[in-house]
Amino acid sequence: MPGERAAFLGLGIMGRPMAENLARAGFELTVWNRTAERAEEFARGLDTATAAATPREAAAEASVTITMLPDSAEVEEVLLGEPDGAAAGMTDGRLAIDMSTIAPTASRAIGDRLGAKGIGFLDAPVTGSRPKAEDGTLTIMVGGEEADFDRAQPVLEAMGELVLRVGPQGHGSMVKLINNTVAAVNAAVLAETLVLAQKAELDTDALRKVMGAGSGNSTMLQLKAGPMLEHDLDPLFKLEHMLKDVRHCLREAEALGVPLRVASTAEELYSEADGNGLGERDFAAIVEVAERNSGISARKSA
Ligand code: NAP
Repeated sequence: MPGERAAFLGLGIMGRPMAENLARAGFELTVWNRTAERAEEFARGLDTATAAATPREAAAEASVTITMLPDSAEVEEVLLGEPDGAAAGMTDGRLAIDMSTIAPTASRAIGDRLGAKGIGFLDAPVTGSRPKAEDGTLTIMVGGEEADFDRAQPVLEAMGELVLRVGPQGHGSMVKLINNTVAAVNAAVLAETLVLAQKAELDTDALRKVMGAGSGNSTMLQLKAGPMLEHDLDPLFKLEHMLKDVRHCLREAEALGVPLRVASTAEELYSEADGNGLGERDFAAIVEVAERNSGISARKSA
């Protein structure tokens, strides 16, 4: 509830604007970040926010603790690490919400360990990049108990537009991985075909208009064709995170005995980009792999 204290752990590209929206909605905040200056700077800008030295300290006074971190290992450490993980500061009946994109198996394991301490847990990853995090219009897919979801509604609605419980613990993470795998495949083929368009000396503005009105339209076309053609690769969503998501999805699929051949090819392309030092660039940098493999530039002016 607004007026309640929430702990926010991880003030990166997404976490910072999400925490700002919680503050705007009336939550008091205790924030923690690995690089402490970022949390201190955040708290200096807001009367209702305090920076904590450890996740444990951040969670101690909060009824709900939110994590927005890179991957499974970081979430596990920040929530359950000894002696300063958040759970060590949480009492029976509190709630933890992980909004990072991590492996569903890890979400379930973390949920089990927190559950054994009487702490509720939701895996609640998001889609929509920094702009949607900033204006509070993220899509949030939630796995967990219905009662925990109901309790979390005011928190989640402060950050998201479409907030949906998709099933039990782990299902939020799995839905997210499938969504991002489709996006990753789509962005990869878009990159390759933009390179093709340049080689064929097409008018890429005309191509984009036709595709946008036709069956080739996609969120990736709308959001990433421009940055790919302009080589505007400042990270909104880091390529290394897209690669992580495709890899998690492939692992889950393998465990379930479902072949994902198209996604496997996308994994190779993103892996090549990561190997070429593009991991911290936006995932639109996948265009550089298509360029390197063809010897042709996708640049609009080329
Ligand atoms: P980011 O900008 O790289 O931020 C990562 C955050 O995690 C930072 O606060 C960072 O702290 C912290 N961190 C990194 N390693 C850590 C460690 N070992 N221990 C503790 N904290 C650590 O990432 P992001 O874009 O906000 O993404 C966060 C999560 O959201 C990821 O799972 C990503 O896949 C997912 N996601 C991202 C987007 C997007 O568009 N960006 C969209 C949907 C979902 P420092 O400040 O110290 O580096």
